[in-house]
Amino acid sequence: MTEKILSAGECSRCQRCCIFESYELRLTPAVDDILAGRAKQLRPDVRFADVDGRRLFMMLPIGNDMFACPMLDREKGCMLGEDKPPECDMFPFVLTECGGRRAVAVSSACPIMSERSLRQLEETARELSSQLFLIADRRPELVRRYEKGYTVLVTE
Ligand code: SF4
Repeated sequence: MTEKILSAGECSRCQRCCIFESYELRLTPAVDDILAGRAKQLRPDVRFADVDGRRLFMMLPIGNDMFACPMLDREKGCMLGEDKPPECDMFPFVLTECGGRRAVAVSSACPIMSERSLRQLEETARELSSQLFLIADRRPELVRRYEKGYTVLVTE
């Protein structure tokens, strides 16, 4: 979804959004039944954790308080390909709330996006916004509480 502003090469070299610090683990993607089945096919030893009623991937410790998603192939990127969860597909754009309205923001967790101009980010967010708000209609739980590292780009 973000290929207009991020190349596949940049993402596969970085992989920061598939590696988490311990305090970020509650923000990792939710796994529904279909996705859990697909993940098991691809990686039979994958395990899940129940966190606040959400099924999440059991992340793999990689040292220094960092954890990697079990679906991350360090050579090729996400094993799930086009089946990856929508919050991964849209990242580093995130859905959030701003002044009681839904908004598209960019997360500061992506080091490559910090090299883009605010104008580029706003243009891309505007182009993607109808698609993203449709996802929010279907999956309201993906609209996250506003966090300090978010820059709001478009509101509804
Ligand atoms: S599901 Fe795929 S894209 Fe999402 S965090 Fe895991 S490896 Fe990354």
